[in-house]
Amino acid sequence: MLIAGNWKMNGGQQALGEVRQLTGLITSKGAEILICPPATLVTQMAQAVAGTGISVGGQDCHPEASGAHTGDIAPELLKDAGAQSVILGHSERRADHGESDSLVQAKTRAAWRAGLRAIVCVGETAQQRSAGLTIAVVTGQLSGSLPGWSGQAALDQVLVIAYEPVWAIGTGLVPSNEDIIAVHAAIRTHLLQAFGPAGKTVKILYGGSVKPDNAQTILHLPEVNGALVGGASLKAADFARIINSV
Ligand code: PEP
Repeated sequence: MLIAGNWKMNGGQQALGEVRQLTGLITSKGAEILICPPATLVTQMAQAVAGTGISVGGQDCHPEASGAHTGDIAPELLKDAGAQSVILGHSERRADHGESDSLVQAKTRAAWRAGLRAIVCVGETAQQRSAGLTIAVVTGQLSGSLPGWSGQAALDQVLVIAYEPVWAIGTGLVPSNEDIIAVHAAIRTHLLQAFGPAGKTVKILYGGSVKPDNAQTILHLPEVNGALVGGASLKAADFARIINSV
């Protein structure tokens, strides 16, 4: 199980204090824990969690390793700062910055070039769900966003998928258990078709309004291998309760 916190554009010195508290609140040994703060905090966060088993990730990266890209961050720079993973194709980036599947694919290749694990996000909008397009949208995003893998490392060390229905992010709404099960099963089938048996090893996270009160149920559904947590990852007590649901 992987429990990943996405701090988005939140956090500061006070939030770093929450992380220091977090380690004292974790009782479950079954979860790998990842925190993805804003890029400015990656180095301090990596220092704050050193020796705890918690790892640090970025929230996005540029496909290039360096160059004239004002305001962007290369995966190599994230890696230098202490990140081990990077979230890619989050729906807020797909919506706010018009990120296409092919750009997400280029970023995934770039993350791999830099030695980062890519957490590739997919998910349907409310309109797409109403139109019965959920599985088609999600598998289409996977087809367009995932490069082939021929590196030395095991696939599960370099790739994680996060299923995040857009309408569930930050809204308090969550799909039914049956709907989560159906989409995760379709993602698994896609991974097996794309990568062969190694596709079985890739973790599939659910994300979208995961809270202390619903984590236990969601995390025990078939093919749910963890959670990507936004708002509830900012408070140590809430994030610890989610982690302790594993
Ligand atoms: C997210 O932004 O990845 C997310 C899942 O947010 P929240 O948990 O706040 O819905």
